[in-house]
Amino acid sequence: MKNGLIVSISGPSGVGKGTVIDKLREMFPELGRSISVTSRPPRGQEQDGVEYYFRSKEEFEKLIEEGEIIEYDQYVGNYYGTPLTPLLTMSRGGQSVLLDLTVAGSVALQEKFDETVTIFLLPPSLDELRGRLSGRGTESAELVEKRMAEAKGEIAQAAKFDYVVTNYEVEQAAAEIAAIMQAENCRYERCSDAVDTLLAQ
Ligand code: 5GP
Repeated sequence: MKNGLIVSISGPSGVGKGTVIDKLREMFPELGRSISVTSRPPRGQEQDGVEYYFRSKEEFEKLIEEGEIIEYDQYVGNYYGTPLTPLLTMSRGGQSVLLDLTVAGSVALQEKFDETVTIFLLPPSLDELRGRLSGRGTESAELVEKRMAEAKGEIAQAAKFDYVVTNYEVEQAAAEIAAIMQAENCRYERCSDAVDTLLAQ
């Protein structure tokens, strides 16, 4: 059986990653979900073990020491990391997994597993990104400009990714990512067993 793909999507805050990922999950309900561990407190209705595993900084650091976290990063002062065992169980069991990680997280996974496919989600323009960040209405003008500077720093790292998709519109961006996953599944390395089986007949 082929290992499932490990598809990691990154992009600046406000690019619409969450919406595109929700759309992909609706299109492919069989896609696996990696529940990250974070040291940030739960927001709203978030529950431990559903959106995240919520742990203290000390507990998080212990998980790193124990080798239970395959990649981790800090974002707005908190740790976020991917638990190793569930990810491996899903991929080795043939289930493709979709992850939403920081740029460093995607790059780290790419170095660790051959099955990783990294996708960078771009906004159509910086003006549009600024509009989306201000449109949330929750951020001050100063914070929006801080996010914009961070976004440029992230966009500058797009060259480290396998693919770049521009989020003009959610359905189109999700369709492009679906096409990437299909093409990746047809790579020769992933299909060589089928070729060998035919040749052995
Ligand atoms: P939020 O606090 O809004 O839920 O997530 C903040 C950011 O953390 C998201 O943009 C997401 O990409 C990133 N993130 C969530 N889980 C992980 C993880 O396990 N590893 C890494 N590297 N980033 C993560």
